[in-house]
Amino acid sequence: MNKHISPDRMPGLTIGDCSSEELQHCQECPECHAEVARLQDTLKLFRDSVRHWADRQCPPEILRPEVRRVAPLRWILAAAGLLLAAAIPVYQSAIERQREAQATQAAETVEDELLFEKIEMHLSRSVPASIEPFMELISAEIYSTSDSEGEIQ
Ligand SMILES: [Zn+2]
Repeated sequence: MNKHISPDRMPGLTIGDCSSEELQHCQECPECHAEVARLQDTLKLFRDSVRHWADRQCPPEILRPEVRRVAPLRWILAAAGLLLAAAIPVYQSAIERQREAQATQAAETVEDELLFEKIEMHLSRSVPASIEPFMELISAEIYSTSDSEGEIQ
């Protein structure tokens, strides 16, 4: 049989932190097996002692269920507050983007209306733009003559 497991590896064996060779040796070798069992018993004794001491220091009936429920509720409220604080800037930026889009659309609508008015003015002209000043002169002359005729009568 191989040499026994070194004492510094024994704590690892008690919690399963070991190689397969160490585990196999421990299962086959009565001396190492007994040493691991003794260590496990000691750990169990220590664990029970700590639990007994903790129960005497703070009996389970003192820990009220409300106290245990309040802590998760506080965490939930804190998480909700953080989530809300993170969501507000996102919501505000979304509203700003929507307003900018609406303003851009309104400006485009005004530009479109101005363009349509220009097109309509251009299409509704009876004479080309270069002749318009002459037409105004002629119409002014017609009105002045009709006015003078009205005065005569
Ligand atoms: Zn051994």
